[in-house]
Amino acid sequence: MGKRILLLGAPGAGKGTQSKRLAETYGVEHVTTGDALRANKDMETEYGTPRSFMEKGELVPDAVVNEIVEAALEDADGYVLDGYPRNLSQAEYLTEITDLDAVIYLKVAESELVERLTGRRVCDDCGTNFHVKFNQPEEEGVCDDCGGELVQRDDDTEETVRERLSVFKENTEPVIEHYRDEGVLVEVDGEQTPDEVFEDVQAVIDDA
Ligand code: ADP
Ligand code: ADP
Ligand code: ZN
Repeated sequence: MGKRILLLGAPGAGKGTQSKRLAETYGVEHVTTGDALRANKDMETEYGTPRSFMEKGELVPDAVVNEIVEAALEDADGYVLDGYPRNLSQAEYLTEITDLDAVIYLKVAESELVERLTGRRVCDDCGTNFHVKFNQPEEEGVCDDCGGELVQRDDDTEETVRERLSVFKENTEPVIEHYRDEGVLVEVDGEQTPDEVFEDVQAVIDDA
């Protein structure tokens, strides 16, 4: 059975960047609710479309997200879960459907998060993350991995970023405290270079 890894952190902490590498290194599935929702932004649900929540920086209703995660985990032989759970009720749901081998919190200060998110550029084709200052592509606007076009996400504007960070504080920080109280949380300094962060994260997983 492949490793079952949960990566927690604020928006911009580096979950997507690290998850991509982890999925390749450990041969596990990258399960990310953010990407799954972006691919289904205009899906009609009884609560409205995911887009109507995402463009305001609010959480998409639990019922919608829980269903996505359950289906993705069912099919996976090992995974790195990124962007979920984002509140305590999602965390409870996750406990019901799976066990975890490692729970890692990428810790980054808020001032750094704002700069990371507003400077983020994402490949339109393969989803790889870049940054205008911290992680520049070889050619401006072009993905190193696949040649796709780099774009700015609609919700990476300063105003929506502030809202997302406040949603994180109110809803997701309690999730981190929940895993800390259970004694399973391992904190990693997310302000190091991506390579250094990756080394620390790997050490946690290989130890688990
Ligand atoms: P980031 O990695 O920058 O935090 P994501 O791509 O994970 O952003 O999420 C983008 C948006 O998708 C969130 O602001 C939220 O609206 C929605 N979303 C993603 N995951 C969840 C989740 N687990 N629960 C509710 N909404 C979610
Ligand atoms: P998340 O998925 O947690 O929202 P991302 O992995 O998308 O975070 O990273 C947010 C932005 O910060 C991206 O532009 C990414 O290139 C950049 N970034 C990721 N890790 C680091 C790091 N260790 N140092 C500096 N910038 C980083
Ligand atoms: Zn690409």
